[in-house]
Order: sequence, then structure tokens, then C-alpha cells
Amino acid sequence: MPDDDLKALRGIGRELAEGLRTHSLDVHEGREAAEDVVAALPAEYWCLGLRPDRNPKPLREGGRTLPVRSCREFTALMEELCRGDAGLALAMPFSSMSAMLMEQMLDASQLDAHYARMSERPTWTFFALTEPERGSDAGAITTTLEPGEDGAVLNGVKRYIGNGARAYCGLVFARNTAASGMFAVQPVLVPSDAPGFTAELLDTMGLKGAGLSEIRLEGVRVPVADGARTAPTGLRGAMQTFDTFRPCVGAMALGAGTAVYEYVDRELRAGAQRNWRDRFVHRIEATRGLIATAAAALDAGRGDGSVSSAAKLSAVRLADALAAAAVDVLGPAARLDHPLIDKWDGDIRGIEFMEGTSDIQRQTIAQGWIAGRLPLVGARPGEGR
Ligand SMILES: Cc1cc2nc3c(=O)[nH]c(=O)nc-3n(C[C@H](O)[C@H](O)[C@H](O)COP(=O)(O)OP(=O)(O)OC[C@H]3O[C@@H](n4cnc5c(N)ncnc54)[C@H](O)[C@@H]3O)c2cc1C
Repeated sequence: MPDDDLKALRGIGRELAEGLRTHSLDVHEGREAAEDVVAALPAEYWCLGLRPDRNPKPLREGGRTLPVRSCREFTALMEELCRGDAGLALAMPFSSMSAMLMEQMLDASQLDAHYARMSERPTWTFFALTEPERGSDAGAITTTLEPGEDGAVLNGVKRYIGNGARAYCGLVFARNTAASGMFAVQPVLVPSDAPGFTAELLDTMGLKGAGLSEIRLEGVRVPVADGARTAPTGLRGAMQTFDTFRPCVGAMALGAGTAVYEYVDRELRAGAQRNWRDRFVHRIEATRGLIATAAAALDAGRGDGSVSSAAKLSAVRLADALAAAAVDVLGPAARLDHPLIDKWDGDIRGIEFMEGTSDIQRQTIAQGWIAGRLPLVGARPGEGR
């Protein structure tokens, strides 16, 4: 996408974010459902992220169509939306990791039905990897997929699944009992009205709009004759989705952090405002640049998990620093007097966990550096001494 279009996309995102912000506290405090906020938006927003050739309601600006398909487009839009409300940004159907992977898994008639449904009403899907005792370690998954003669049967529990209780179908990562090793773990398409499928909304301290849920699969039959419909790229495709999604989570942290920055900036008098700006404005710009670098590399097929991790880690660190500084600067009663600051702090903690905690990102960065795959660092350990 040309830079002008990216700027236009950001402009649309900023406008939408202002609208989302007006619902922030109502959703956070349980007076309003995130689904209702999304349903009240024009259809262009439910259809964000759909394949341009199949999108019945594309975003338009000055006669141009603005797709949201590349990592650059996705990160730019997510940053802007999270300046409004990160939880509600996650309630937008396009923001689920399942969206693109599902396109690979649906056959032509399913894809037609899926797109028709998306243009009629907001339609959510889920991406269910994380388990209660195993976390998001794909190699340790205990949910089983047992192939039989007339299909396959799923059993297991998934937790912290975004949109889980509001989705009509989604991807469940399960271990195929007829296969072995890492390749036995497969994403399987599961409709949420299948007998044995239940999903319950979890109570969370932040990101309420994300609709984190627990999903139980008790003898769920996967309705395909040849075992199960799985992604052609299997777990590898899912891992690529993670790499692509990581700068987007960084963009979410940056957006939430920028919301804190702008809020505090408006509250301060001139002298204190200057200090506040000196402290953070360059860091915000630098972090935005790092996220853009990671996103552009992924779009160009040069994506490296370690640059994506560096982008996410830096953004989360910045957002965390902004939330802590806000409480410092606004005084001891900041969380009571400024409920949005309290809410954003909780949201930022949630974002820290998405796509791997900061400890896990540091490990990925270290591995990339040792292997000489981290271009921004340049020298490998021991070199140049
Ligand atoms: C808002 C939100 C949305 C989410 N959406 C989804 C979703 O849609 N689908 C889904 O499947 N999951 C989802 N998750 C779950 C999320 O992906 C996981 O919680 C996340 O990846 C962390 O993994 P984990 O729970 O296995 O924690 P762990 O990685 O086990 O981390 C637990 C703690 O141990 C520390 N730790 C772990 N390993 C190390 C190590 N080697 N060295 C040092 N410290 C370590 C971590 O830093 C952390 O403090 C979501 C989570 C959140 C908060």
C-alpha cells in the first residue's frame, strides 16, 4: 500500500477510535457488551481484513479502496484503534489470528457462506491454542483429535481464547492421536454449535472487550468424512501466523501507551508538559519505526521472528513505562480520579501476555542474535572484539 493510503487508513482508524473510546468505561464496567458496540458500526468495519476480491464492503477513501491485508496495514490500523480502546479493537472480527488462517481452510462453498455471513452481521471466529495447564506451548498440547471412520472426535479444554464465546466457528489446535511428534499438532475447524462444544466468558481485569473465554470440547465430532479439515500448512502455518501477529500486538501496546501519553499530556500544565513530552515523544516515534520495520520485513517475505519480538518487547516496555509514569505524574489518587488510566494499565498488562510474555520475547531475540539473524543489532557475540 502506498504511504498516502496508509496515512488515509490511519486517519479512518483514528476517527473510529474516537467513537470506540466513548464506550470504553461502559464495556470495562459491564454496562455495555462489546458485541453491541461492534454491531452498531457500519458494515465496512465488520468486513475489515476480508480478501479484497471478495469483500462486499471495502473501506474507501476518496474513491480508493483501502485493504487491510498486509502486516503494515494491520499494524497501522491496530495502533490507531488501540489509541481509542484496545479491548474493543480486539472485539473487531478482523483482529483475530484465526481470520487469515481460516481462509486457507474453508472450501469454496464454506468461504462463500462465511463471507456472506460477514457482510450481513458482525461474525466472529476464534483461534484456540492455549490450554489451562500447558499455556501456549504448542508442543505440549493435550487436546486430542481422534480420527475415526466417519470423521474425528475432539476432546480437551482451551483457555484465554479471544472471542471464544461469541464466535460461530474457529480453529482448535489438537494432537492427532494417529500421528506422532510436533507434526501431530494440527489446527482443526470447529463450528461452535457442534454438540459437545461449550464456551464461557472469563472475568478479566483488562481488555474486557476481547471476550476471553474458556472452551470445552467433549466428544465434539468434526463434520468431515476424511478425518478432519486441517490447514494445508498445519502447525507451520500457524507459527507463521504468530510471527505475523507479533508486530500487531506491539502496535496494540503502542496504541494503548499513546492513549496514556495523550491523556496525561492534556492534564498537565505547560512546564510539566514539556518534561513529559521530552521523556516520551522520541521513544514513541522510535517504537513506531521499529514496528514498521518488522511489519515491512514480514510483508517482503524477509520476516524474522526476532525482529518481531524486538518490536513487541519495546512497545510493551514503553506502554508499561507510560502507565507507571502516568500514575506518578497524576498523583496518588490517579487511578480513582482517572478511571481510564486504571483501565489502560490493566489492558497493557493483558497485551504483555499476548503472543508470549516479555521473557519469551527476550529469548527469541537472544536466539536471533546468536544466530546472526537480527539485522538491527549487526554484530554477533564475540565479533568485533
Ligand atoms: C488478551 C489475551 C488474549 C489472548 N488470546 C488468545 C487466543 O485468542 N488464543 C489463544 O490460544 N491464546 C490466547 N491468549 C493466551 C496467550 O497466548 C498466552 O497466555 C501467552 O502466550 C502466554 O503463554 P502462557 O500462558 O503459556 O504463559 P507462559 O509462557 O508459561 O508464561 C508464564 C510466566 O512464566 C514466565 N516464563 C515462561 N517461560 C519462561 C522462561 N523460559 N524464562 C523466563 N520466564 C518464563 C513468563 O514470563 C510468565 O511470567 C491470550 C492471552 C491474553 C492475555
